Amino acid sequence: MDEVRVRTRAHQEMVDITTEVAAVAAKAGWRDGICYVFVPHTTAGLTLNENWDVDVRRDSLDMLEGLVPSDTPCRHGEGNSPAHLKASLMGFHVAVPLKDGKLVLGSWQGIYLCEFDGPRTRRVLVEVVGRSA
Ligand code: ZN
Repeated sequence: MDEVRVRTRAHQEMVDITTEVAAVAAKAGWRDGICYVFVPHTTAGLTLNENWDVDVRRDSLDMLEGLVPSDTPCRHGEGNSPAHLKASLMGFHVAVPLKDGKLVLGSWQGIYLCEFDGPRTRRVLVEVVGRSA
């Protein structure tokens, strides 16, 4: 299993990690298979979405903030339950097919680390399960 480290720069942001994950997937040496990507955190998630218009990311974060405002009162001692819930809404893993050593993504699709309690350094684990025949 390989790891990509991502230094986030804002309290909440979506960081395109497609290039980094694709590099790890290519290095794994499999021609075809599945690239499994997992984030071992509770206030950051992973998702796939459009990587052409940056406004999609901005809108997504704004809409999530509308659903779960960061200043929502909470029982949790750290006070960051909104970040935990947003991470759960995004999910903690994605799986992308691998063909000819490359990720099979839609034309406008990218892999995003979703930061909800940054800035921090986040770990992203990448495992390629290959098929030999
Ligand atoms: Zn917490």
